[in-house]
Amino acid sequence: MRAICESCAKPQPPDWRAGDLCIHCGLTVRAESRCYWCAKWGPSGKFCRSCGAASIPDEHYGAARMLKQLGASVFEIPKLLAEFEPERVETYQAIYQQQHAVALAYVDDLRWLEEHLYQRHWSAELEEELTAELPWPEARFKQLNRTPNPPAPDTSRAHVLSERSPINVIRNLAILVRLRLGDMTAYREASYLIEGNDELSAEALLHITNWRCLYFVEDRVNAYKLIDALRAHPMRDYAAPRLAWHAGEPVETPPTSDADTEFIRAIVERQYAVLESALASQDAAKCFAAATALILDKQARNIGPVLRAASSKFQFELLQSILLAKTPIPELLSPA
Ligand SMILES: [Zn+2]
Ligand SMILES: [Zn+2]
Repeated sequence: MRAICESCAKPQPPDWRAGDLCIHCGLTVRAESRCYWCAKWGPSGKFCRSCGAASIPDEHYGAARMLKQLGASVFEIPKLLAEFEPERVETYQAIYQQQHAVALAYVDDLRWLEEHLYQRHWSAELEEELTAELPWPEARFKQLNRTPNPPAPDTSRAHVLSERSPINVIRNLAILVRLRLGDMTAYREASYLIEGNDELSAEALLHITNWRCLYFVEDRVNAYKLIDALRAHPMRDYAAPRLAWHAGEPVETPPTSDADTEFIRAIVERQYAVLESALASQDAAKCFAAATALILDKQARNIGPVLRAASSKFQFELLQSILLAKTPIPELLSPA
């Protein structure tokens, strides 16, 4: 069972009780059940509004799905459930639960990836899609059943998901998360995902135009192609600072809560105070990007600590930027 607001259509927390009002808008909430025959949600009542199947108690849902798979008709299932010994119903229910747990592990993978994504609808959609398939035929269950992944650092977790998950949407989104977490080897694969005109291509575009790619990927997608795609992007607040970077236009959208997007804005709008505070970041790549932007704008007086602590590769590139900017930085000289 789930509870959905009749006005704003938002789901209610798991401890919702009949009669509680919507926690989002304060209006009336209705209880919904998933139909064991068509797997669609509908108001709890005597019959499914989508297919007309007679209702059964919510706790028999899994057993009913098993009976459906075994060939019982929509008319027989409520009768069989009432006639069977409780142990038999429980056995069906347990077999179903085992598969449901496997499905939820994939939903969890996606929920974790979502923490690093701009759209957050993916896991709820996958949960609906997989639940509607259950119970799986033997071959599909074999393909999807797995031992849980051992705990791993974020970048390797994303890497494993991008290479091994049997679920397409997880593999694709994991490529984007790898890129977001600084694995630049994912750029090429991520750039293929911007082809198309759907939610995945919109998500991919924001990732391949993130500041890390602008600084650390040399062989990037053609800028005109990116500009066209960013202009048409449905998530304007995230796209605008990226478009400003590529097209040299002012940003006209309000700030977002996304640190990467706001870092791009700080570079484009020459927010020197923000860039100087980024010099103290724990992320060496971000320090490097901030220092480079400050050098090229001849505002480099505070980059000393970053320059000294940088890896030799970053140090070399920062010195090249100083040469390019053709401005001495007297603040970096040791006091006599
Ligand atoms: Zn509501
Ligand atoms: Zn139905």
